[in-house]
Amino acid sequence: MNEPFDIDAYIGKVPNFPKEGILFYDISPILQHPPALAHVIQKIQHHYKDQPIDAIAGLEARGFYFAPALAIAMQKPFYPIRKAGKLPGKVDSQSYDLEYGSASIEMQPAPQLAGKRVLLLDDLIATGGTLQAAATLLQRQGATVEDLCGVIGLPFLNYQESLASFRIYTLINYD
Ligand code: IMP
Repeated sequence: MNEPFDIDAYIGKVPNFPKEGILFYDISPILQHPPALAHVIQKIQHHYKDQPIDAIAGLEARGFYFAPALAIAMQKPFYPIRKAGKLPGKVDSQSYDLEYGSASIEMQPAPQLAGKRVLLLDDLIATGGTLQAAATLLQRQGATVEDLCGVIGLPFLNYQESLASFRIYTLINYD
């Protein structure tokens, strides 16, 4: 791994998106610079190298930017968790609260995950509500979910409290 690597230089900061008063962290530049994307994947892979991870799960949409690449690097199967109505066939659903209203995410039944350790990945962890809902879906398949990973963490939104029962790894945090 080439250290140090300034991953912050590849994260855009967009004021007032998607609405007034929100500072949006845009990870698109990482994707457009292969050394930056390679660095992100290698760092996560390195972090979990001694953990007995059996599978990777990732969240639509921006979690999909990273999770399949990590799955290839770690040579583990990848399980997508999608927004409601996108996956065909039988699905399990979990809803969670948003600032205004609620949302629902889904996954296809995966009985093969029973007793397996799944690493759950998203691009950014804010309140932790999305990852908590995703972990609940995986746990209903019988999977063991102990490790959550975000490329970016926003600790001022208190995900450490809402996700207190998990181990959390983020590459970079913004206050
Ligand atoms: P949480 O459920 O509050 O932790 O929010 C995390 C979810 O919101 C993730 O799926 C992110 O993709 C998305 N999200 C929230 N803020 C941002 C941001 O600034 N940049 C990119 N995604 C964000």
